[in-house]
Amino acid sequence: MKSTRLCLACGSAFAPLPHVPHQRYCSSKACQRARRRDWQNNRLRVDSDYRDNQARAQERWRERHSSYWREYRAAHPEYRERNRSMQRLRNARRSCRPIAKMDVIGLPKPLGSGFYVLSHAHDAGVAKMDAWTVHIAVLSAPTAPPM
Ligand SMILES: [Zn+2]
Repeated sequence: MKSTRLCLACGSAFAPLPHVPHQRYCSSKACQRARRRDWQNNRLRVDSDYRDNQARAQERWRERHSSYWREYRAAHPEYRERNRSMQRLRNARRSCRPIAKMDVIGLPKPLGSGFYVLSHAHDAGVAKMDAWTVHIAVLSAPTAPPM
């Protein structure tokens, strides 16, 4: 009898291929893409050489294709419009939240578990293509600093 297991990506039961005894993703195209994406995300997290190589390769690609995003935005008006409305939303949020006046408005609400957009700190507030959407689960809440 063939043993089956559950695919890490889609959750369906599948029988591992005979030559891949530790197979954890089923053979569907989407799940194999997910496997490679997960492998790469893990690699980016644990391997600083890989991370540096990827960053350099992306920079070279951007240099060779400097007009890519400009042309993409021109060809996809709905994408451009979404970016604009998201940016207006960020701008509005930023202007109505005076961070420096914590003593007047009280302590800011601590971040809770949920989905966040993660991007490099020096790009904060700017529409970014290479931002990750991540899920953060809060394990312990920060304690308020002494006044
Ligand atoms: Zn699957």
